[in-house]
Amino acid sequence: MNKFEQLGLSESLLKAVLDLGFENPSEVQEKAIPLLLEKDTDMVALAQTGTGKTAAFGFPVIQKIDANNRNTQALILSPTRELCLQITNELKNYSKYEKGINVVAVYGGASITEQARDIKRGAQIIVATPGRMQDMINRGLVNITGINYCILDEADEMLNMGFYEDIVNILSTTPDDKNTWLFSATMPAEVARIGKQFMTDPIEITVGAKNSGSATVSHEFYLVNARDRYEALKRLADSNPDIFSVVFCRTKRDTQAVAEKLIEDGYSAAALHGDLSQAQRDGVMKSFRGRQIQMLVATDVAARGIDVDNITHVVNYQLPDEIETYNHRSGRTGRAGRLGTSIVIVTKSELRKISSIERIIKQKFEEKSIPSGIEICEIQLLHLANKIKDTEVDHEIDTYLPAINSVLEDLSKEELIKKMVSVEFNRFINYYKKNRDISTQSGERRERSDDRDGAPRENNNGGATRYFVNIGSRDNFDWMSLKDYLKETLDLGRDDVFKVDVKEGFSFFNTDPEHTDKVMEILNNVQLEGRRINVEISKNDGGGRRDHNGRSSGGGFGGGRSSAPRREGSFAPRREGSGGFRSDRSSAPREGGFRSDRGAAPRREGGFSSDRPRTEGSSDRAPRRSESFGDAPRPRRPRRD
Ligand code: ADP
Ligand code: MG
Repeated sequence: MNKFEQLGLSESLLKAVLDLGFENPSEVQEKAIPLLLEKDTDMVALAQTGTGKTAAFGFPVIQKIDANNRNTQALILSPTRELCLQITNELKNYSKYEKGINVVAVYGGASITEQARDIKRGAQIIVATPGRMQDMINRGLVNITGINYCILDEADEMLNMGFYEDIVNILSTTPDDKNTWLFSATMPAEVARIGKQFMTDPIEITVGAKNSGSATVSHEFYLVNARDRYEALKRLADSNPDIFSVVFCRTKRDTQAVAEKLIEDGYSAAALHGDLSQAQRDGVMKSFRGRQIQMLVATDVAARGIDVDNITHVVNYQLPDEIETYNHRSGRTGRAGRLGTSIVIVTKSELRKISSIERIIKQKFEEKSIPSGIEICEIQLLHLANKIKDTEVDHEIDTYLPAINSVLEDLSKEELIKKMVSVEFNRFINYYKKNRDISTQSGERRERSDDRDGAPRENNNGGATRYFVNIGSRDNFDWMSLKDYLKETLDLGRDDVFKVDVKEGFSFFNTDPEHTDKVMEILNNVQLEGRRINVEISKNDGGGRRDHNGRSSGGGFGGGRSSAPRREGSFAPRREGSGGFRSDRSSAPREGGFRSDRGAAPRREGGFSSDRPRTEGSSDRAPRRSESFGDAPRPRRPRRD
């Protein structure tokens, strides 16, 4: 028997639950739903993001309203337009087997008359942002004097955003005998005040720090010089070819600037912030959900509560002003039991914030160093090799093979492989050859034996041995579990394995050279679930001997092209397979012939650096057009709902 059936939900809701694929209620649902169904009561529910609050109030409200009565019976207030739409959408899913229920979203930036018309047709449930709701009340476009239920979702965030007055005004036009349900992640004084003012003996429920994310999110920070922040972001993206991320900035201006810069540098990125028009925001979110955007650069407010599956990384490009906000950010990843990583790019002066966050999240950060150019090249190369291996061949290509074969027939297999891989790889190596490494280390946080000197170094690895091993997140490892596994398997001490860097199909780690023989001997003879582990000493010796004679350390990124050219974004190469090995030239035909895997991503070709003109010092300049917020980068083919 399904646990949902014990909560007292109606047949039609249970049917919807089945469609949604929810197997068991979450904790907040289990606690809230039976109480709300059973009696008419006020409620305060405290639960982190990602705990399933929408259904916790959504199921009861749908079950309790009278579908035969067209009057507005429930009002749900939520902080942002995006959340408003998300909740409306969820409620529509929940109520799809319930006849006659209308849910209408009311938010700024869209036609108020159209929303008024939708309400007039009969909306039992209105989901609204406080600002627009207040506006509609003032203009007499909505009547909430007869509602039975009022739900304040993300109450703390609404108050953070300065909606106190609006909320008070809105609530004062509702009947006293309605029930108010307040959902919030935290309970600051203002929320408590609203509670006191507008609720009678509310039942309080608290869900332990059971943020579904928290157990599955690992936290990392990268210490960089302030001037290297953007470069660090790029390298993190380059070293995670399958990254699908939300990048948080502190202000709208920075959000726009970083997104523009990424796009200029050939990444599939877009900005999300409050200065965009609604159509722009919808377009961006649609592309992001559709995975045509790999890096969504967002403000906290715009991204609050966004629920997109499979986000691999949350990147704190800048830390938030309020460290509590960190939780909301990192909760965007590690959802639905999947592993996620929350990354902080931090400068020395902000380091103490890391310790404060550790206290709040009750988890430790791992300090990591920005991968060196050569490490990135290695990662990209292996990624490419794997992609080639996993590519499914479309037999349309057969027609062209005779001609292709005749061009390539004089090459041996070895030569052919080298050349093929170089087509992609030269771009990275050319870029990174010319650019210094930017990694620094915090001396204070003694996490690895080779960090003891604490001095910023260009050479990442000191005297350590770096290994490549053919197991990774695909085998359910994250850095912590792999580190443990290695220490255990190799019978090594606490600090003997370090700089563990887990990628999908492979990983890197370091030991001191004295352990090298042991590692090679033991690990190459171990099997993991029937598969032989293969460990190699990575060619990377830290790169200290390469082109780093201080020439480029004056702040620029060297004389090369300003950005690592980006290959096309392919998000799940093993499953998708349709990407093929296509030319990165944007002039290549988009349709027919060799299709790109995800044509719609805004993406620059960016390759083959030498033959493109470049602007002098472009990497140091403030990004263009940062003043024109409204002019947001948009996915190439925005579609309407
Ligand atoms: P919150 O509002 O607490 O941040 P949401 O209501 O947005 O959380 O839910 C987060 C995600 O979890 C959504 O994708 C939702 O569909 C999913 N979810 C909610 N309840 C369940 C459940 N009982 N089982 C599985 N997934 C659920
Ligand atoms: Mg929510």
